[in-house]
Amino acid sequence: MFYSPHVEAAAKHWRRRDPPKKTSSAASPCTYHTFSDPAHVVLLRSQLLNWYDKEKRELPWRTVAETEPDVNIRTYAVWVSEIMLQQTQVATVRDYYNRWMKRWPTVQDLADATLEEVNQMWAGLGYYSRGKRLHEGALKVVTELRGQMPQTVDSLLKQLPGVGRYTAAAVGSIALGQVTGAVDGNVIRVLCRLRAIGADSTSAAVTEALWGLANTLVDPERPGDFNQAMMELGARVCTPKGPLCSQCPVQPHCHAFRKVHVKQEQNSKKLLGKLSRKASALPDIEDLSSETCQLCPSEPWVDELGVQNFPSKPAKKPPRVERTLTCVVARPGQQGEEEYLLRQRPNKGLLAGLWEFPGLLVEGENSEVQQKRALCAELRTILGTHLTESLFQYVGEVVHIFSHIHQTYVVHSVCLKDSDTQTQTGNAQWLTRSALQEAAVSTGVKKVCVSSTCTQKSKKIKLSGAKSSRQLSLSSFFKTVKEESSS
Ligand code: SF4
Repeated sequence: MFYSPHVEAAAKHWRRRDPPKKTSSAASPCTYHTFSDPAHVVLLRSQLLNWYDKEKRELPWRTVAETEPDVNIRTYAVWVSEIMLQQTQVATVRDYYNRWMKRWPTVQDLADATLEEVNQMWAGLGYYSRGKRLHEGALKVVTELRGQMPQTVDSLLKQLPGVGRYTAAAVGSIALGQVTGAVDGNVIRVLCRLRAIGADSTSAAVTEALWGLANTLVDPERPGDFNQAMMELGARVCTPKGPLCSQCPVQPHCHAFRKVHVKQEQNSKKLLGKLSRKASALPDIEDLSSETCQLCPSEPWVDELGVQNFPSKPAKKPPRVERTLTCVVARPGQQGEEEYLLRQRPNKGLLAGLWEFPGLLVEGENSEVQQKRALCAELRTILGTHLTESLFQYVGEVVHIFSHIHQTYVVHSVCLKDSDTQTQTGNAQWLTRSALQEAAVSTGVKKVCVSSTCTQKSKKIKLSGAKSSRQLSLSSFFKTVKEESSS
């Protein structure tokens, strides 16, 4: 399945070696989970860095890290990139990063921005508290640290909100040249495969072991490049599914790869009935697994998974299921452009401070009549006016998956004829379609826009005596959002 000219050499090399030693201590891991030979460490560094120098992607934050002479700007730029890259793919981050750095090229510029502007810029990137933390961090740097970004891993960790162990190590090594390993999701996968670490990768014992390995392996001359090379390897070669072992620069060091090869050899010998006593005496990682080792696999090996037997993760909790009634309320705008009613979410919790269509959480299934009644009551608190249930049009359901919530929006729409309809609360506003597209709204709200339709058949109602101006169809707006969303 995974075969290259390196395999045989690696397997032979491994067979020639003395079997890795088992330990009897409950606290000590089996020695094959470590890199005990300094020559192997030196070799791995050079193989990985040679590969990285040839294969690395040109990314805007890498360019800044390599070329920006001002350490304060460099640290700020890498910090922004690392926060954006948490939980988000490089391809998505690139454009956001470029726009962000163009608008706020220094930490002082970011501190001068408002949270609303930051939320606007972040809209669509997800995990919105990250933008808020960056803004808080910039304010802290400017007000408490005289505008100077922290210059060590420890101070990054202690002084910047939202900066954890990984982010501090990544920024410290990439921007400041500090010699420290950095362990993110990609690195966890690579290291677990390299050293056949099969225990729960979220456990404290595995976490500490991985940080120990990363600190052993990191190249003291090029710590930032080494850490980025490990991450790049995990993102492009040692991928969660379908890893490209035949193209892997560190394959000769990989226990998972060797194990697959040995297993295949054993299986084919078994098939041929040739598994001699001598061959079966070959030490396999499985045979060496210790019940007392906190890093050895706790689950049996699955042939079909190959190297993907590593790492091992606990089963994910199923997401919470929520249903939200939501209403797209439109009115003719003063400038001829249709306007939409939006309400701001609380400043804490999920999607803090973002704007959304009015709505409310519901439990269980509700009839359409019950839904309209509930939305009438909700809109009354915002508009101070009673809308009869017959004015609502049921649109449909939109599903949006957050990290831990399976959200279903049950969408209704109302098209008002009165351009003077006012909001009664401070946290609501009318936005034109162009303003809405620029506003701090979540992807879920955009999905509601895209999936909704307020066709020409929609009922247009009038709250006061004012005549409506031109009534635009919501569908034209949704079309525009769809194009933006899919680009
Ligand atoms: Fe490389 Fe494959 Fe080992 Fe990953 S599993 S480190 S891609 S040889």
